[in-house]
Amino acid sequence: MSSVKELDEYFKKLKADFPIFSERPDLVYLDNAATTQKPSAVIEKLRHFYVTANANVHRAVYRLAEESTALYEESRKTVADFIGTAPEEIIFTRGTTESLNLLAYSLGLSGKYKSFIVPLFEHHSNFVPWQQIAHTLGLKFYPVKIHGGELFLEDVEAIVKSCEKPFVFSMTGLTNSLGYRAPFEAVAKLVHSAGGIFVLDAAQLIPHEAFDFAASDIDFLAFSGHKILGPTGIGVLAGKKELLEQIRPFQYGGEMIDKVGEQDTTFAPVPYKFEAGTPNIAGAAGLAEALKYVKNISYEKISKHIENLTKNAIEKLSVIPGLTLYCQKNCHGIISFSHENIHPHDLAELLSRLSGVAVRSGHHCSQQQLKVLGVSSLCRASFYLYNTHNDIDKLVAGIQDALRWFS
Ligand code: PLP
Repeated sequence: MSSVKELDEYFKKLKADFPIFSERPDLVYLDNAATTQKPSAVIEKLRHFYVTANANVHRAVYRLAEESTALYEESRKTVADFIGTAPEEIIFTRGTTESLNLLAYSLGLSGKYKSFIVPLFEHHSNFVPWQQIAHTLGLKFYPVKIHGGELFLEDVEAIVKSCEKPFVFSMTGLTNSLGYRAPFEAVAKLVHSAGGIFVLDAAQLIPHEAFDFAASDIDFLAFSGHKILGPTGIGVLAGKKELLEQIRPFQYGGEMIDKVGEQDTTFAPVPYKFEAGTPNIAGAAGLAEALKYVKNISYEKISKHIENLTKNAIEKLSVIPGLTLYCQKNCHGIISFSHENIHPHDLAELLSRLSGVAVRSGHHCSQQQLKVLGVSSLCRASFYLYNTHNDIDKLVAGIQDALRWFS
């Protein structure tokens, strides 16, 4: 494996693949947990689709429509290969939020499950759907307590033993607020040994870690294209085929039917029964291109580089007087922090205004996690592959400038 400097040089060169950085040379983009920038290959793929291949899919028999359908299905195959599963187990959605809503509705409406369980550190997209649908359908909803930002297996064990069964347990692989690499593999085992279904919110995990769905102990997995260099408005729900076959569709309409009668309708096979209406064809092609880009570089390189950046940032930030870091063990590419003298929104605004540094501030769509930490708002710097050690220096200098400006 290359040295810290060699990796930094490699990724510094690669930044040229991302046109936003030449358009905005002063931008220090550290909000990658919210969304990532797009390489030219992805932008070009979107343009190419609309210029050369635009037609609706799965309907018409003319050549353009056949090519468009082939592109959409090839994209499904690329996504399936990327996470180690079969194309029929891949459903295209608008993103993680839609994937998780789809599941909560479909599993809830199946009438089979009595309880939904989620840890308190979840992003609202993996908390509110389960909470609200459980309440609407009269199911039990169990939030699992957390300790700081961590999940303890004994708390999971106690709930899965005592909850009403059968149950669904949904959790994240990497928390978006604190970058905590959660022990989801161990939780999945506990869930299965208690007869439950396990759902993984991989919105933050997939950009950082390779995944083998077929070999995993996971029943459903959700992620968003835009957090891994792909376009917005496209995401994935992967699910074990036998489970997808058992549950009801989430939305009804064109594309997802088999036969429509006056009173009854039968549905298309999976994955199509979950893809009602015209899908985001260009988005699927763009996502496939993004995944090829990531694969070409390799997760090994990306994850080592991000580990180096995270370590460097923690070292440099932890010596700034008055700054508190909220990193957890294994904190991976996501560092939340606050300063005793400045509100996180003011600090984020000054970082942008004085130094061109883009960090997030607020509750990070995780109000229950912040409540456990006893804060209502934090700043968050999050890294991806085009960030460099120079960006970390700019963040540190930017915080110091903001503190001087504020004092
Ligand atoms: N889950 C996690 C862990 C996230 O970080 C996010 C977005 O930040 C989501 C779900 C929601 O993703 P999207 O807004 O792309 O649907």
